[in-house]
This record gives sequence, structure tokens and C-alpha cells, in this order.
Amino acid sequence: MIKEEKVKRIRQYFNEILPSANCELNYSAEYELLIAVVLSAQTTDKKVNEVTKTLFKKYPTIDDYNKASVSEIENDIKVIGLYKAKALAIKDIASKLKNNFNYKVPDNKKDLMTMRGVGNKVANVVLVEIFNKEEFPVDTHVFRVAKRLGLANKNDSILEVEKKLRKVFKKEEYKLLHHQFIHFGRYYCKAINPSCETCKMKDFCLDVHLKASSTKTK
Ligand code: SF4
Repeated sequence: MIKEEKVKRIRQYFNEILPSANCELNYSAEYELLIAVVLSAQTTDKKVNEVTKTLFKKYPTIDDYNKASVSEIENDIKVIGLYKAKALAIKDIASKLKNNFNYKVPDNKKDLMTMRGVGNKVANVVLVEIFNKEEFPVDTHVFRVAKRLGLANKNDSILEVEKKLRKVFKKEEYKLLHHQFIHFGRYYCKAINPSCETCKMKDFCLDVHLKASSTKTK
């Protein structure tokens, strides 16, 4: 199948099953999204929302995090993985938001990435979600689905996958599409036992798993 036709089919199918996919992290202030995205590394959005439900109530302003000790924040978030590193990141973010950015989440990658725990992916999520910038964050779901659909090569790095997705889709589609890729990976095209039987892309998918015949074509 030629690439243009494949891209059209992906877009159509995602719009059919996930017309309004959006961010599943709960937040009410911009800096809360930044904290939530940092917390989401190697854990689920569901788990992050459980933690932030009480965290955001306990620390209603950036300065409340500045006043708290690292060990107190560790204790507040200890049910999620990497909580020690994440507590240090929260402290650094709160400090830099206050001292370097006048309590405002920066709207550019260079400044965002000066904060601990903020790498390319976290920065991309914040930029696309808060500032509607034309970024295509690649998380574990986007990474897997893009490869299964043949939009990237098996050995491509996260940055290579991001580059290829940015090339094949239109800039104005990035925000919705990155959410559609995430939701599709999270609820349909799961790492284990994907819903291939009902998937309308199985004719061109490179990793289709069909239970009836137990076949797995590469
Ligand atoms: S056929 Fe299966 S593995 Fe391929 S995209 Fe669809 S759900 Fe994912």
C-alpha cells in the first residue's frame, strides 16, 4: 500500500473510533500539567490521577511545593515508581518556575528542558497541550503503534519515530493524532493481546495477531 493511502486510512479509522481523544491527565493549572506529565514517566495516567488528586489539593500553589521538603513530597507520591527522582524534579520545577520564569510555565522547549525531569517528551506534551504548539510527543503507545503500522522502522529511536510522524501528518493534525495514537495503543492496540480481530487496519499492519489462526505475520 502506498504511504499516502495508508496515512489516509489511519486518519479515517482513528476519527471513526476515537473522534475526540484527549489528555487523560487531570489538572487545573498549567504547572499542574507539567508536574503530572513528569509523574507519568513509567506509570499509567490513572495512577498519576490518583496521586495528583490529593497532591494538588495539598499544594494549591507553586510556593507550597517550594516550602515543602523533598522527603515530604516523596511521601506524598511514593505509591508511584521512581518517586525519589520525581520528588526532586517537582522541587526543582517549583523553584525554577518561581526564580527563573516568574511563576509561568515556559512556552518553549529550551526553557522547559532546564527543569529537572523535563526531557524532550515531557516538553512536547506540555507544548502541545497547553500552548497548542505543533509537536508530536512520542510515548510508549505512539512508539509501538507507529512501528506496527509501518510508519517507522522496527529499530527506530523515539526521536526517529517522532521525526517520521511529523513528516507524514499535517501540523494541524498533530495534537489530535498524538492523542488518538495514545488511546489506540492504550485501549485497542495493546502491547499484549491487541484487538486485531476488529481492527480495520489489519490488512496493512506489520504485526497483526489473529487469535483464530494463531498467526502472527511480520
Ligand atoms: S491489527 Fe492489531 S497490532 Fe495491528 S494496528 Fe490493529 S490492533 Fe494493532
